[in-house]
Amino acid sequence: MFGRAPKKSDNTRYYEILGVSKNASQDDLKKAYRKAAIKNHPDKGGDPEKFKELAQAYEVLSDPEKREIYDQYGEDALKEGMGAGGGVHDPFDIFQSFFGGSSFGGGGSSRGRRQKRGEDVIHPLKVSLEELYNGTTKKFSLSRNIICSQCNGKGSKSGASMECGACQGTGMKVSIRQLGPNMIQQMQHPCNECKGTGEAIDENDRCPQCNGEKVVQEKKVLDIVVEKGMQHGQKITFPGEADEAPDTITGDIVLILQQKDHPKFKRKGDDLFVEHTLSLTEALCGFQFVLTHLDNRQLLIKSNPGEVVKPDQFKAINDEGMPVYQRPFMKGKLYIHFTVDFPDSLTLDQCRALEAVLPPKPASELTDMELDECEETTLHDVNIEEEMRRKQQSQAQEAYDEDDDAFGGAQRVQCAQQ
Ligand SMILES: [Zn+2]
Ligand SMILES: [Zn+2]
Repeated sequence: MFGRAPKKSDNTRYYEILGVSKNASQDDLKKAYRKAAIKNHPDKGGDPEKFKELAQAYEVLSDPEKREIYDQYGEDALKEGMGAGGGVHDPFDIFQSFFGGSSFGGGGSSRGRRQKRGEDVIHPLKVSLEELYNGTTKKFSLSRNIICSQCNGKGSKSGASMECGACQGTGMKVSIRQLGPNMIQQMQHPCNECKGTGEAIDENDRCPQCNGEKVVQEKKVLDIVVEKGMQHGQKITFPGEADEAPDTITGDIVLILQQKDHPKFKRKGDDLFVEHTLSLTEALCGFQFVLTHLDNRQLLIKSNPGEVVKPDQFKAINDEGMPVYQRPFMKGKLYIHFTVDFPDSLTLDQCRALEAVLPPKPASELTDMELDECEETTLHDVNIEEEMRRKQQSQAQEAYDEDDDAFGGAQRVQCAQQ
């Protein structure tokens, strides 16, 4: 049935693999590839097939000539060698050329020399609930070490280095501590003269730009995109943007979102909660009020005719909660928690007027005679939470006192039996 249709050349798959649109800019492609390639790198436990596909897709789309061929004729045309250079490159080479020769140190990869991985740098980033609702961009400036451009991280003018005299090039020093008359302890620690590198640079050969340090400080401003619906505690990672060091895979800068408390809205997942107090009249006879949302829209919120709202009642408005992360057209719910402000007292006239319209009181089935036999009581106002807290405290104090006395076995037995 379907076989009859003419074979359409597939020229969208590469875009789908990278998760970008057909009119993505070079910058979009780079960003998409960077993110996906790091995530799917086999050294980090990613799927090798997926990693290969990403590299293929990126290789084609990042080359304007190949991209044009691909857009017009699809994948097959490139396989047939129409593309300049033809052939598919090793996905690891593409990854390495993208990341400036760095590859991940760990994992089962045998390629290249094992490099240690630099530390990730973690910063908190304060954001308001409005910013998480609407999405925003922020600038974050920091200073970091980068490999000295003048000596390419060698530290010397000539590119040469000598063995560190203090540690004979091992980078480690052993110190011996006398612990007792016949006891010594050997301890190994990184050589402080060469900072564990095992190298020394002749004073006259030091690179003038970095003074032999191999790295220089750079001020950097990161553009941070806070996407709609991001959560408190969510990480935004800038791979390979932490401090650079020779022979080290640069770590990531990781920003962790910290949502500031909002005076009106509370967030739980994708839902928002707001408190609203009604007067008794509003609760009984209807209400309407305007709520300014996090994007400054004015929501008109009103009761249905004849509806009574009870104290502590919740109501919800669909699709007025937080946008769902990466699906911003979907939104959670907005819950409104109602408190009803009762009057403290009423006059006799008010009582009579109310009794005339409210459902009747339950009729008293007690006769005057029976009432005469009852004992009179008095109701006091209490703050119940306060009372309960005080009771708990005094109970805890009692338990503590008992524990204190319980040194003698007898009392402990008594306690255990209770
Ligand atoms: Zn040394
Ligand atoms: Zn230098």
